[in-house]
Amino acid sequence: MAGPAKVVVAGAGLAGLRVVEELRARGYGGAVTLIGAEERPPYDRPPLSKKVMTGELDDTELRADLGPLAVDVRLGESATELRDHVLRTDAAEYEWDALVVATGASPVRLPGSGTQHVLRTADDALALRSLLKKGTALVIVGAGWIGAELATAAAGRGCQVTVLEAARTPLAAAVGPEVGGMTAPWYAEAGVELRLGESVAAIEPGGVALGDGRSLAADLVLTAVGVRPAVSWLAGTGLRMDNGIAVDAQLRTTMRGVYAVGDCASFWSGRYQRQLRFEHWDIALHAPEVAAANILGGSTEYDPVPYFWSEQFGRMVQYIGWHGAADQLIWRGDPAAAKWAAAWLAGDRLVAALTVGLPRDLIQARRLIEAGGRTDPDKLADPRIAVRDSAIPG
Ligand SMILES: Cc1cc2nc3c(=O)[nH]c(=O)nc-3n(C[C@H](O)[C@H](O)[C@H](O)COP(=O)(O)OP(=O)(O)OC[C@H]3O[C@@H](n4cnc5c(N)ncnc54)[C@H](O)[C@@H]3O)c2cc1C
Repeated sequence: MAGPAKVVVAGAGLAGLRVVEELRARGYGGAVTLIGAEERPPYDRPPLSKKVMTGELDDTELRADLGPLAVDVRLGESATELRDHVLRTDAAEYEWDALVVATGASPVRLPGSGTQHVLRTADDALALRSLLKKGTALVIVGAGWIGAELATAAAGRGCQVTVLEAARTPLAAAVGPEVGGMTAPWYAEAGVELRLGESVAAIEPGGVALGDGRSLAADLVLTAVGVRPAVSWLAGTGLRMDNGIAVDAQLRTTMRGVYAVGDCASFWSGRYQRQLRFEHWDIALHAPEVAAANILGGSTEYDPVPYFWSEQFGRMVQYIGWHGAADQLIWRGDPAAAKWAAAWLAGDRLVAALTVGLPRDLIQARRLIEAGGRTDPDKLADPRIAVRDSAIPG
């Protein structure tokens, strides 16, 4: 297949590897270089806060053998500068005809001179795991997805876990306070102390300094307050940024021949009529299909119904869609029970759903959201009626 002579991919995480796979799957025979800042070959991150942390898994490498992809892999090398048709790293310069930026995101750190752990890389995970011993007083800053998963694993390893969250509920930024609030009791059930409305000013030797001047002692502190797109190396390129690298629906940046995918990029969503960036594994998996097709001359648009999952406190939590423009929240089942769901409507259209232990509801909600038809809120609220049967015919 024709296409550019040389494709360079900056960032060797899931999204970067998937670009290479998709180029080859489409018959591209030109040169491909994959450049990654970490020394490890591409690996999966979701298990790092789950099975790796519990000790059930050590290695999450995505593909043991990159050989069949005929890709020039440069590990332990960071992209530092992008110019027209040249990518510079801390070790070399690469000419490109098409370039894909897939540099992901980096954890936000808090101020202070104390030791703070973060969880983004396999090295972070293995280092942290070795410190999670019975009786260790662990403070986790942030009750988001990663904070909750890590609290689960650490409590399971016998640590004394305290989670400090500045908002009034867990997961407030991700799913809103009403739904996030329903997860608060899960912490106490697992023996984890959750302190809400508790802001942390700094990480200090021996613990954390709280916003109101008090301090809290800890053997170990993990900061889990979110990530930022890893795009600082692109400063001065003139690439348009909008909460990460702004790409259009075809995943093209404002520089000709340059694409961006995964956690580092916000894409134009035709479905939601706005620029959106997600930190979802499923986006890093699938957006590269579209980038590869377009590098090879296509004009495919990427317009997913976003999907995310989390495993916390013995529960499978799944989220489909985007509730940013919703005007109604519907409960399906009792949130105090083991299994329940919440659904968001914009007008009479289902736009997002969160399910706890109800994968079938999630799948059916996905289909309704994809179809974009009208939904009966009363039927949707009734767990005896299948989610699919809440669709209003016609
Ligand atoms: C602990 C953890 C648990 C998660 N759990 C879930 C989950 O349960 N469900 C879910 O949907 N999602 C989950 N995610 C999110 C998911 O893993 C990410 O959305 C996904 O990894 C994004 O892939 P990516 O390739 O865009 O970025 P990344 O995986 O971050 O890969 C980017 C790579 O680029 C490298 N890089 C950065 N800068 C440069 C540079 N200048 N030059 C060269 N290389 C560079 C980085 O070192 C990194 O290896 C989790 C993430 C983490 C950290």
